[in-house]
Amino acid sequence: MFQRREGERSNRACRFAYLQLANDGAPMTWLDVSAPITGGMVHWPGDPPVRIDLSSSIEGGDPANVSHLDMSAHTGTHLDAPRHFFEDGAGIESMPLEVGIGPARVIEAAESDGMVSAEALRHAEVGEGERILLRTRNSDRDWAHEQFDHDFVGLSLDAAEHLAGCGPAVVGVDYISVTSPEPEQATAVHRALLGAGIWVIEGLYLGQVTAGDYELICLPLRLVGRDGAPARAVLRPLTG
Ligand SMILES: [Zn+2]
Repeated sequence: MFQRREGERSNRACRFAYLQLANDGAPMTWLDVSAPITGGMVHWPGDPPVRIDLSSSIEGGDPANVSHLDMSAHTGTHLDAPRHFFEDGAGIESMPLEVGIGPARVIEAAESDGMVSAEALRHAEVGEGERILLRTRNSDRDWAHEQFDHDFVGLSLDAAEHLAGCGPAVVGVDYISVTSPEPEQATAVHRALLGAGIWVIEGLYLGQVTAGDYELICLPLRLVGRDGAPARAVLRPLTG
C-alpha cells in the first residue's frame, strides 16, 4: 500500500504523484467535484448543445480514436472570465493560478425565495481573498444529466452585491450558472461579481461534500482571450 512517510521524497518518487498522508497513515482523498461531460448533457438555454462524436474511430477502420467536441465554453464545470460580461474584460487565460489552487471554504447556503440570499452569506462572514464554494440543494441530484431546471438555486442580486463587497478571490456555485436565465438578473449578477474582480466557478458537483474547509484545485483550460473555459475541480478535506 502507501508506505511513503509524509515529507519523504525520493528522485524516483518525484516522477509519480506525491501522496500526502493523513494522521492515521491513510491517503487523503481527493473528491472530484466536476460535472461529468457527456454528449447531450444539460446546457444553458440558447447555448449550443453538447455534442461529442468520433471524427476517427478504430471501429471504423482508422488507426486511432479521435473525439470531436462541439460545445460552449460554459459547459459543465467551468469558470467565467470578466470577458464574459465586459467587452474589454480579461480573458480566462489570465486567471492567476493561485485563484484556483489553495484553501477553500464550502458553505451550505440557505435560501430565501428559491435563491441564495445575502442574509445567508452575511452569517458566513466571507473574507477578502477567500475561495468560497456555495453548496445548495442543486447538488442533491445529477443535474448535468437532467433537463435544464429553470428553478435552480442561484444568487440573488443582493447576495452578489454582498459578495462583491467582501472581495473573495473566487466564488463557486453548484449549477451551470450563478443565477437565473432572466436576462436582466443574469447580467446584473455576473457584472456585480466579475466587475469586483471575483472569478466565478459554475457547475460544481458538491453532492459528496459538506460544509467545511478544504483544499481546492480548479484550473480552467488556457483558452486565450475567451469568456470562460471548462475546468476540472477537486477538493480535499483539510484536517486539524
Ligand atoms: Zn459560465
